[in-house]
Amino acid sequence: MQVIEHIAPLKKAIRSLKTGGNAIGLVPTMGALHEGHLSLIRQSIAETGVTVVSIFVNPTQFNDKKDLEKYPRNIRVDLHMLKRILRKNDLVFTPDVQEMYPVRDTRVFDLGHLDQTMEGVFRRGHFNGVAQVVTKLFDIVTPDKAFFGEKDYQQLVIIKHLVKQLNYFIEIVPCPIVREEDGMAMSSRNQRLSPRERGAAALINKTLSAAVQKAKCLEVEQVKRWVIDTLNDHKLLRVEYFDIVDGSQLKPVKSWREKGRKIGCIAIWAGKIRLIDNMAFQK
Ligand code: AMP
Repeated sequence: MQVIEHIAPLKKAIRSLKTGGNAIGLVPTMGALHEGHLSLIRQSIAETGVTVVSIFVNPTQFNDKKDLEKYPRNIRVDLHMLKRILRKNDLVFTPDVQEMYPVRDTRVFDLGHLDQTMEGVFRRGHFNGVAQVVTKLFDIVTPDKAFFGEKDYQQLVIIKHLVKQLNYFIEIVPCPIVREEDGMAMSSRNQRLSPRERGAAALINKTLSAAVQKAKCLEVEQVKRWVIDTLNDHKLLRVEYFDIVDGSQLKPVKSWREKGRKIGCIAIWAGKIRLIDNMAFQK
């Protein structure tokens, strides 16, 4: 693998790899890599000739400055992990803020109603920042496929929308959530949890899994209430929102009889750490 910090040599490398007939796969990350990220990378390796992994903690998607400062960074460990799975031709793009934003990015994206719900309500401007950085990466890397985790379900739906809206010729490949043995969704933020908070956070997945069973006999609103009350009962946990939405438009589901995939999305505080997770309600 080759590690590249600047856009010009990256574009040059990609141009020559494309001329060799390789399909390009992009895996955008903010580093502090774990098995969740690696699963996206493995998927890209399986489906494309060259994988480009970007590692960039994007300041424009942080609505909370403290959260940006405290975001875990460990590029040395990240590169060590990547070395073990990437191939000779694969690229790691590690730009700094100046390289990605030589001038302030003032673009405002119209994401319709997709960013007016859930994360969009509690993290104002977050998805506009995501759209800024992802479109920049799309323009720089010009991938054939880009790989995104279902862990950030709303982000995935928004990226698919952007690709359509802006006529990108890029296939967005959704990748399933990778979990710890106790069901906790892997996240770079998990390393900031104290042992007690980590223990409490295991309840999130357990409660969502139990809710899928409850959905067989309770209405949507009753299931939502049950999830919120059950988790809030734990003194270290505080639910910010739990919504059950349709899988493509993120509109609130009112009845299990509605057609289509239904996803229960949660944001929850474990102490001072904000976590998100989601679960498909298959009804
Ligand atoms: P991040 O570094 O948190 O911005 O994540 C980079 C990509 O990895 C995003 O597409 C995430 O959805 C994905 N991702 C993060 N955690 C997981 C996980 N536990 N399982 C699957 N994908 C994940």
